Amino acid sequence: MSTQKQADNARSRETKTFDVVVVGAGFAGLYALHRLRGLGLSVRAYDGADGVGGTWWWNRYPGARVDFPSAPFYGYTFSKELLDEFDWEERQPSQPEVLRYLNFVADKLDLRSDIQLSTWIEEAWFDEQAERWHVNTSTGEHLVTPFLLCAMGSLSDTNKPPIRGIDDFAGELYHTGRWPQEDVDFAGKRVGVIGTGSSGIQSIPVIAKQCAHLTVFQRTPQYSIPAGNRPVRPEELSDARENWEQYKANMAVSSLGMPYPMSERSALEDTPEQRDALYERLWQEGGLHMLFNSYFDLLANKEANDTLAEFVRGKIRHIVKDPDTAEKLTPTYILGTKRQVIDDGYFETYNRDNVALVDLKTDPIDHITANSIVTESGEHPLDILVLATGFDAITGTLMRLNPRGRGGVDLEERWQERFNSYLGMMIPGFPNLFMVHGVESPSVLFNMPLGGEREIDWILECILHLRAAGIGTIEPAPGVDKAWSKNVDEAASQTLFHGTDSWYSGANIDGKHRQFIVHLGGQAYFQHLKDIAAGGYEGFVFGPAASEVLEASGG
Ligand SMILES: Cc1cc2nc3c(=O)[nH]c(=O)nc-3n(C[C@H](O)[C@H](O)[C@H](O)COP(=O)(O)OP(=O)(O)OC[C@H]3O[C@@H](n4cnc5c(N)ncnc54)[C@H](O)[C@@H]3O)c2cc1C
Repeated sequence: MSTQKQADNARSRETKTFDVVVVGAGFAGLYALHRLRGLGLSVRAYDGADGVGGTWWWNRYPGARVDFPSAPFYGYTFSKELLDEFDWEERQPSQPEVLRYLNFVADKLDLRSDIQLSTWIEEAWFDEQAERWHVNTSTGEHLVTPFLLCAMGSLSDTNKPPIRGIDDFAGELYHTGRWPQEDVDFAGKRVGVIGTGSSGIQSIPVIAKQCAHLTVFQRTPQYSIPAGNRPVRPEELSDARENWEQYKANMAVSSLGMPYPMSERSALEDTPEQRDALYERLWQEGGLHMLFNSYFDLLANKEANDTLAEFVRGKIRHIVKDPDTAEKLTPTYILGTKRQVIDDGYFETYNRDNVALVDLKTDPIDHITANSIVTESGEHPLDILVLATGFDAITGTLMRLNPRGRGGVDLEERWQERFNSYLGMMIPGFPNLFMVHGVESPSVLFNMPLGGEREIDWILECILHLRAAGIGTIEPAPGVDKAWSKNVDEAASQTLFHGTDSWYSGANIDGKHRQFIVHLGGQAYFQHLKDIAAGGYEGFVFGPAASEVLEASGG
C-alpha cells in the first residue's frame, strides 16, 4: 500500500500518540516497556498474541522447552528481585514454566496496563516532515510516535512449507509455533510430523507416546544430544542467588552470554581416549555443555569438530536398533552449524513399534491429500499433521510488517538484494526504527534474554541522547550497512558455519536471500555497541528536530 493510501486509511481511525511504540510482548518487549516507562516516557507495547510471553505464548507444542542456558540463567538478569522471587522447577524449563515466569514478571513490574494484546501492528510508515512513525493496528487504531521499537522476535514468523495440496488437508493441522491453547488429543490417531529441527525433536518423543501411529518426515538428520533435564536442585537456586554477581560477571565475558567459564582446551590436544571419556561424561550429564564447554575449537576446526560428530554418530547407531533407520538418522553435516538441538529420548523413539521414519532426501513428498501425505514411494494416511517446520527466522516478522521509510521506500525494496543493517540495530532510510535481535545481530547465537537486555539498554541510551541534544532522528549513514554486512560475512567465513545450509543462512525458506544473518561476535559485539555510543554514534547521521525543520522551511 502506498504512503498516501496508508495515510488516508489512518484518517478514519482513532489516533493515539506515544513517545515510543513497542511491537512485541515477549522477553524483549516486556523489558523495553519496563525500562522506557522508568524513564518517564509514554509507551505502549502491542502484541498480536492474546497473552504476554512471545515465543513462550505461541510454542505450546508438547515437549517445548528451553535448551540453553539452564535455569535460572534463561531469564532476566537486571533484577535480583526477579531471581529471588521466582522458583524455577526444571533445569531445562518447559514452555508452561517460562510462560509462568513471564506472567510473573508482567505482574511484578505492573506492566499489563501498558500492553495491548490481540493487536497486530499491520502497517508502519515514516512521515519525514513531522519525523513521526505512523502505525495502523488490526484493532482499528492509528498510532503516532517518534520511535518504533521492534521486539518482534527472531523465531516468530512461522514457516508453512509450500507443499502441493497442503491446504487440502482435512484432518487436524497444527504448526508447532502456533499451537492451540487447548490440549491436542492424539489418542488413537495417526499422526505425521514434518520436520526434525528443534521443535520436531522435542515433540516427537511426546507425541509418539500418545498416538496410535507416528510417521516422521525428515529432511535433515540431526546430531541431537540428551537434554538431561531434571528438577532444579534447591542448592542450585540458592547458589545462583548468593553468587549472582559472580554469575553475572561470567556472563559478561562469555562469548555466548553463559554463566559458566568456557573451555580453553583444543579437542586435538587430548588423546582419542581422553576425548571420548569427556564426551561420554557430558553425554550422560546432558545439555549443550557438550558442544559449548568441552573444547573451544569445535566450531572453528573441522578436525576437532569431527571428533564430537563421530562420537554422536556412534551413539545414534548404538541407540537405534534397526540399522536402516539408524543410517537414515545419522547426520553428515558439520555438527553445531545448524541450531544444535537437545532431546528427551528422541533416538529411542525410533525403537517403538508405532513409529516410522520417512527420509525425504530419498523419498520426497509429492503432495498432500485430504487425509494423507503422498511421497514418491507411497501414501501415508494421517488424522493429524504437525508442521514442525520452523520459522522465517530473524527477518520474517519485520518483512511481514514491511515498514515504509524515507522517500516512501519500503523494507522489501530496501532488502531486495540482501538483508543489510547497521549494528543489527537500524536500517538506512528507516530513521528511529530500532530492531531487537535484528538481522546481523548475535540474536539466536547468544543467551537471548541477556542479549535483548543489552540491546534495549543501548536503544534507551540512544533515545535519551537524542532527546537531551534536541535531535530529531538517527539513522545509519548510507553505506555503513554494507560494511557491517561484510563484517558479518567475514566473521562467519572464519568458522565452520559457512557452507552449511541452515536457517541462519536463509536456506529453509524458498526464495529467501542466502546470506549468513547472525553476527558471531558475541561479547565483542556488545562491547562494540557500547564503544559506538561512547564515541558519539559513529556511522549514524542525525536529523534536526522536526520543529527546527519546519521553522527553517517557513512552516
Ligand atoms: C521452542 C523454542 C525454544 C527456544 N529456546 C531458547 C533457548 O533455550 N535459549 C535462548 O536463548 N533462546 C531460545 N529460543 C529463542 C526465543 O525466541 C528467545 O529466547 C526469546 O523468547 C525471544 O524473545 P523476544 O521478545 O525477542 O521475541 P518473541 O518471544 O518471539 O516475541 C515477539 C512477539 O512479537 C509479536 N509480534 C511480531 N510481529 C508483530 C506485529 N506485527 N504486531 C504485533 N505483535 C507482533 C509476536 O506475536 C511475539 O509475541 C527459543 C525459541 C523457540 C521457538
